[in-house]
Amino acid sequence: MAVQANDVIAWIRTFAESIRENKDYLTQLDSAIGDGDHGTNMDRGFQAVLLKLPDLADKEICAILKAVGMTLVSTVGGASGPLYGTFFLQLGAATAGKPELSLADWSAGLQSAVDGVIMRGKAGPVDKTMLDTLLPALEALKAACAAGSGLGEALRLSAEAGERGMLATIPLVARKGRASYLGERSAGHQDPGATSSELLLKAAAAAWNQA
Ligand code: ADP
Ligand code: MG
Repeated sequence: MAVQANDVIAWIRTFAESIRENKDYLTQLDSAIGDGDHGTNMDRGFQAVLLKLPDLADKEICAILKAVGMTLVSTVGGASGPLYGTFFLQLGAATAGKPELSLADWSAGLQSAVDGVIMRGKAGPVDKTMLDTLLPALEALKAACAAGSGLGEALRLSAEAGERGMLATIPLVARKGRASYLGERSAGHQDPGATSSELLLKAAAAAWNQA
């Protein structure tokens, strides 16, 4: 049970479709505590990624992931472009030379990707950012890995932990990014980046169900 290059492409495609479907929702969340562009930012980036996918069909996993990261950095403005760009670039670096990804490889790759987001944005737990989804998802993934779960089960548990983390951003006061300018008024709203990150985890669980 392992993730192949075509599974990685399927994940990216599934996520791009999910971003398109949730574009207005993400923008609505960002309108409440930011500047209302998270849906359009993410959609612009992933539509550009979709255009690159045909050229990536015969490439290695690390090359696909790096190309996604580069495309996001060059097409998405705001905070989310460099942060998601870094996520995919680090995931690409962590998977260099791997013809397929085991659950342990995915767990190590996600760790590198999340470390990259932390280095880049200097945020931590409960700052009300995408990390509030990604950090608990990573912990759940590592726990599932240690418990000997299969890939499908581990991805499901990881996405569920991410969803709880996403929902837990609602009462938080933002300490990073644009929402932090609102201070206490940022409480009571779900973080848009935590929401797009949950869609990313759900897309992996859906796309790699049979991997
Ligand atoms: P901008 O805030 O520049 O308009 P977006 O609206 O596209 O960019 O993205 C906002 C999201 O980016 C936030 O909801 C939050 O999850 C995430 N974010 C902002 N700053 C940081 C940071 N320093 N570290 C991690 N995530 C961040
Ligand atoms: Mg915004």
